[in-house]
Amino acid sequence: MKIKIIAILVLFSLTLSNFSCSRRSGMKALIVTGQSNHNWQRSSIALKYILEKSEMFAAEITVSPATGEDMTGFDIDFSPYDVVVLDYTGDNWPETTRNNFVTYVQNGGGVVIYHSANNAFPDWPEYNDIIGLGWGRDEKTGPYVYINNGEVVHDNSPGMGGSHGQQHEFAVEAYKPSHPIMKGLPEKWMHAQDELYAELRGPANNMEILAYAHAELRSGGTGRNEPVLMTVNYGKGRVFHTVLGHAGGGMFFPALECAGFITTFQRGAEWAATGKVTQEPPAAFPTETQSLRWAFFEDIDSEITSLVIKMRDYETGKSNESFNIFEKLIAENIDNREKMDEFHHIIRDLLKSRKSTADCKKILLNRFSWMADDSYVLIYEQLRQNREFSAEAQYALDMIGN
Ligand code: ZN
Repeated sequence: MKIKIIAILVLFSLTLSNFSCSRRSGMKALIVTGQSNHNWQRSSIALKYILEKSEMFAAEITVSPATGEDMTGFDIDFSPYDVVVLDYTGDNWPETTRNNFVTYVQNGGGVVIYHSANNAFPDWPEYNDIIGLGWGRDEKTGPYVYINNGEVVHDNSPGMGGSHGQQHEFAVEAYKPSHPIMKGLPEKWMHAQDELYAELRGPANNMEILAYAHAELRSGGTGRNEPVLMTVNYGKGRVFHTVLGHAGGGMFFPALECAGFITTFQRGAEWAATGKVTQEPPAAFPTETQSLRWAFFEDIDSEITSLVIKMRDYETGKSNESFNIFEKLIAENIDNREKMDEFHHIIRDLLKSRKSTADCKKILLNRFSWMADDSYVLIYEQLRQNREFSAEAQYALDMIGN
């Protein structure tokens, strides 16, 4: 495994040989996470890896107290960092941290707003200015902003901001192809399956839309061209805002693994930190019609990935060793909230996924329902409707008292 990683690094560094000498490296990135309606345990690890793979950043992750826990003491000094990535939506930060954040951006700090981080802090005016647009805001915060016939529309009609249709692949189209983050990338590329955020609203001050996507009606979208990549200038600070990269439960993260998401994320982070982009466009990139998984993604946490794939593909008669290992991991980490959250995500995802075999689902219903909580009820009930699993699903429901 080590040899494989070294080989990949060598290969990767060869592709860097044509970078200019002015390219900065050794910058510091901070990823703030710990509360989210998403799988922040996985996304934050992926974002760290993605940033470090750019060979520009060393990245740290800071994890907040859990939802509802005491936030006093969650003090962050942002000043040592070149870029701060927010993968956080949840309880309010303590006042010191809020003030430190605003001061950091005003003084020229770089920020990346990632996906549902634009759901956070609707009642914090400075945060709304920093992100430009977000979810859960009404007309008091600012207009809906979208693109119609090539023009940016500021729509002041009343209502809440934020929606998305069904997840699907969609084309990302450049609106400012000359911006450093976009320059050299194809002007239209197919993004892997993701939520297409729509009806975002906010102050949108000093905001530039770099790219948009058409939220098609047949996928439950608005029928509009919705902004997906943006920049905001706040004080001396630069903000890159990407709505892409949804990370849901368990194992499968097409949006987060998309080479287009990752490339724009790496370039956006560099731009936020320095105001320039020195990273060359990658050789492998999605085309207008074909999305592309980033080649390096499989190196992240590959042990657990391969374990889950073995469980997913299990059929009666094959070795069930993967489930035994998974059980052991659970027993070893029963007091570790983060690990247990991750394991729950994996189980729920395998139960829901069309890719998992029926035998995999039966084992999960029989052997892992002892650890289930209310978040499993709907999944179990759906499985119970399927004659193939009805007995196992009923057993699992009985285990949690439903
Ligand atoms: Zn999402």
